[in-house]
Amino acid sequence: MDVKSNLRHIHDRINEACKRSGRTPEEISVIAVTKYVSPERAREALDAGIRHLGENRDAGLLHKCEMLKDERPVWHFIGTLQTRKVKAIIDHVSYIHSLDRLSLADEIQKRAQKPVDCFVQVNTSLEPSKHGMATDEVLPFVKKLSAYENIKIAGLMTMAPFTDDEAVIRSCFRQLRELRGEVQKLDQWNAPCSELSMGMSNDYTIAVEEGATFVRIGSSLVGNETGGGQS
Ligand SMILES: *Cc1c(COP(=O)(O)O)cnc(C)c1O
Repeated sequence: MDVKSNLRHIHDRINEACKRSGRTPEEISVIAVTKYVSPERAREALDAGIRHLGENRDAGLLHKCEMLKDERPVWHFIGTLQTRKVKAIIDHVSYIHSLDRLSLADEIQKRAQKPVDCFVQVNTSLEPSKHGMATDEVLPFVKKLSAYENIKIAGLMTMAPFTDDEAVIRSCFRQLRELRGEVQKLDQWNAPCSELSMGMSNDYTIAVEEGATFVRIGSSLVGNETGGGQS
């Protein structure tokens, strides 16, 4: 399917989820996750009206930044970020979705020329394989970040487990929203924490119902040209 038709379908489903939950579609931004596809395919997404692109590897990000520089997309780094890769990507991204440890915050603080919008990645699923910090670590972590002037805590991010059990997925997203409320209550100068980055191809309608402001959609929007599964 072409990206335009996929995007139309996704917008329809987002609109329906908004109706069910009393939200407005303008509250939700779709990030096209282009990690499985070529720069040309990513360009199709931009031509279809997408402004936000997400990559999870430094090499993929830098390559597409170069190839798509005239289109000026808003870049999101969505994957596990190795501390030693921060320097290479920091000037190219507007958002980092995977802030999950103090050593990474130290490196962002050191390398950034200006405040970077970061999402604290939270493991809401209790699956040991998932990245992100435990829910009870989030508030102490955010408080420590008040000393980091180059870090702005834009919001929280999570990945739900791969399961057909909608109740499990919904509970992860709901936890993230409740946690956002607790961070907002801190009223910390660099933690407005207004955003929720949650929802992928399989579960974005649930995420929208539970308050997502950014959904990260790869395979069902731009497809998967690697032929493999999700990585
Ligand atoms: C790959 C990836 C996505 C998109 O996954 P799809 O299931 O293809 O939509 C979203 N978020 C993160 C963190 C990813 O790594």
